[in-house]
Amino acid sequence: MNKRILRLFESAVIQDKFIFDCAMDEARQTIIRDFCNFCQKKLEIEEMPQVRLVDKKEENMSTGAYTPGANTVLVLAAHRAILDILRSLGHEFTHRKQDETGALKNIQPQGDRGKDDMSDVGVDFEDEANAKGGALIKEFSRKYGKVPFETLFEL
Ligand SMILES: [Zn+2]
Repeated sequence: MNKRILRLFESAVIQDKFIFDCAMDEARQTIIRDFCNFCQKKLEIEEMPQVRLVDKKEENMSTGAYTPGANTVLVLAAHRAILDILRSLGHEFTHRKQDETGALKNIQPQGDRGKDDMSDVGVDFEDEANAKGGALIKEFSRKYGKVPFETLFEL
């Protein structure tokens, strides 16, 4: 994507909240920043989490993780459509909101802790994160307009 278009993408974001430990072009990084700001506004999150995108699965995560206390969000970015990355971000941002309101009673890092772990299956905070994450991505993808809609489905 050319530089002139990229400059149009620049928005007022706190850049140091984002760490890209993965190969990702600037256009996608901008979409991710814009979506995180959108989530913060929509969910009325007081303190923006530190967001780190990685290209390899790390401990305590499946495709994403939220760590209460540290207020960090970790999301797997490699080999995923941007829409799927955003869905994970919306899910983890919902956990941040739950943490701020006290709804997140479980103080363990939120994320898949292995195939035998059932502690986040069918529990309220997890179902809410799935539902809100889905709603956030739907609204964002339809309103965004900075990139063609189909771009969001590309790997
Ligand atoms: Zn979750």
